[in-house]
Amino acid sequence: MIKLAFFDMDGTLCAPRFYVNGKTVGGMSDEAWLAFCEKNGEDTYRFCKPVPIVTEYAQKLRDRGAKIYVLSTSQTTWEKAAKQKFVKQNYADGFFTEVIAVEHDEDKLPVIRKIAEKEGVRLEDCELVEDTYATVLAAIVAGIRGTHISQIYCSLE
Ligand SMILES: [Mg+2]
Repeated sequence: MIKLAFFDMDGTLCAPRFYVNGKTVGGMSDEAWLAFCEKNGEDTYRFCKPVPIVTEYAQKLRDRGAKIYVLSTSQTTWEKAAKQKFVKQNYADGFFTEVIAVEHDEDKLPVIRKIAEKEGVRLEDCELVEDTYATVLAAIVAGIRGTHISQIYCSLE
């Protein structure tokens, strides 16, 4: 039974949507992104939307007693603050146990291991929900339940 569930933000909990030079875009180069975050600060995610099926899935896990975390890669403090604001604006207080930011995708599994150890939860009772398939596979190989966003409908059955 899943006791700890970790949700990626960009492309998983959050549908990317940014206004750049009067146009809506779904993403940009790393360099442009850094500048965009610096310019927009904590409002960087203002036009992003939550993904209802992912929220529904998180709610289902919560109803079954799991603790739910946001586990997201953020390169800057602006991006971290923007993600915190997105969560605050789109989810009830306490929906997520914690919003965790890591610097690199590779840092996600060590964070899950650490929290699992602290909570006394087996890795097989932890789940990572992600849109980056390489990270999903790394979780599965590590003995964690890895769910790609494309598999959410299967997991809701
Ligand atoms: Mg992502």
